[in-house]
Amino acid sequence: MALVDITSMFEAELLEAFKKSGYPAYRARQVYLWLVKGVKSFDEMRNLPKSLIGELKEKYYIAGVEIARKLVSKIDGTIKYLFRLNDGEYIEAVLMSYRHGYTICISTQVGCKMGCKFCATGMGGFARNLTASEMISQIKEAELDSGIRISNVVLMGMGEPLDNYENVVRFLKLASSTENLNIGMRHISLSTCGIIDKIYKLAEEKFQLTLSVSLHAPDNLTRSKIMPINKKYSLDDLLAVCRFYISKTNRRISFEYAMIAGVNDSDECAKRLAEKLRKMLCHVNLIPANDVDFALGSYKKSGMERIKKFVNILEKYGINVTIRRTLGADINASCGQLRRSTKTVEV
Ligand code: SAH
Ligand code: SF4
Repeated sequence: MALVDITSMFEAELLEAFKKSGYPAYRARQVYLWLVKGVKSFDEMRNLPKSLIGELKEKYYIAGVEIARKLVSKIDGTIKYLFRLNDGEYIEAVLMSYRHGYTICISTQVGCKMGCKFCATGMGGFARNLTASEMISQIKEAELDSGIRISNVVLMGMGEPLDNYENVVRFLKLASSTENLNIGMRHISLSTCGIIDKIYKLAEEKFQLTLSVSLHAPDNLTRSKIMPINKKYSLDDLLAVCRFYISKTNRRISFEYAMIAGVNDSDECAKRLAEKLRKMLCHVNLIPANDVDFALGSYKKSGMERIKKFVNILEKYGINVTIRRTLGADINASCGQLRRSTKTVEV
């Protein structure tokens, strides 16, 4: 029988399983507290009888990530981790310092199926989904290694969170639970390329997290060229679900827009974007696109002058807009690039 990932379980589930095996409730509680503490093996659970430890080993495993490489930016202290998983796969996470505390950007999948043309992760292919415990473990390991208390989490690393819906929702519930990481939903952001049916589902959960939608283009023609997912879910349908999401949660949506020279950064694009987002409770986050070293030599970031002009137009139309600060520029802090280079080295 396949072993069960015990760190992804809610305390209530553990309690239920223990009851079935004839163990008293307080044993489930003890095990849960050890897991929250971050033990790596059942042998570390010192207040349990040997017989129970033996039984746990037969049924469960403790999933976790370990640091394979670590890069620290000399410019701003941003830390990029390459984590190795139990099965030898690699993922990345980035720890950044902001005025309001420390934010970690974590991965939700090993790779990604969505194939966005400008994204190193998308070009690296897909291996598997991460479990909730592997998402939690990225935060714990980073805290342990850096000695930093992380206050904000963004699901913006490798992978498409809504393509791993069940595990991500489980992660959100575990991470925000006061007994576990105790990171409030308002301190968590989830970024998606726009998987519409899952956004409808997420809206019903009424989480108070921030939803970021990677828009990157103001029309179907441009968006489909750089984001294959747009051929399945059109831009207007995506904006319709965003409006639904806002009405359900009362939360402002953040639209990500990577500025790629000559592709989506013209005045015309800015006007079209403003038109599409009119009267919506939203915020536009412009990202100077990271140049990525693979195949797409023709995709380059827009110049700062162009970006500022774009901002001016959006502001003229009353759209709330900011330009994202670049962090960790010297360590390729955007996700996907380290795993790619590691894979290349290993081959
Ligand atoms: N799959 C999710 C979350 C992970 S990607 C999503 O697509 O939203 C996190 C963010 O990085 C997305 O907004 C994505 O579009 C952006 N991104 C990917 N490659 C980039 C690049 N080369 N330059 C700028 N932003 C990039
Ligand atoms: Fe996947 Fe997001 Fe990269 Fe697109 S941008 S390939 S959805 S990780």
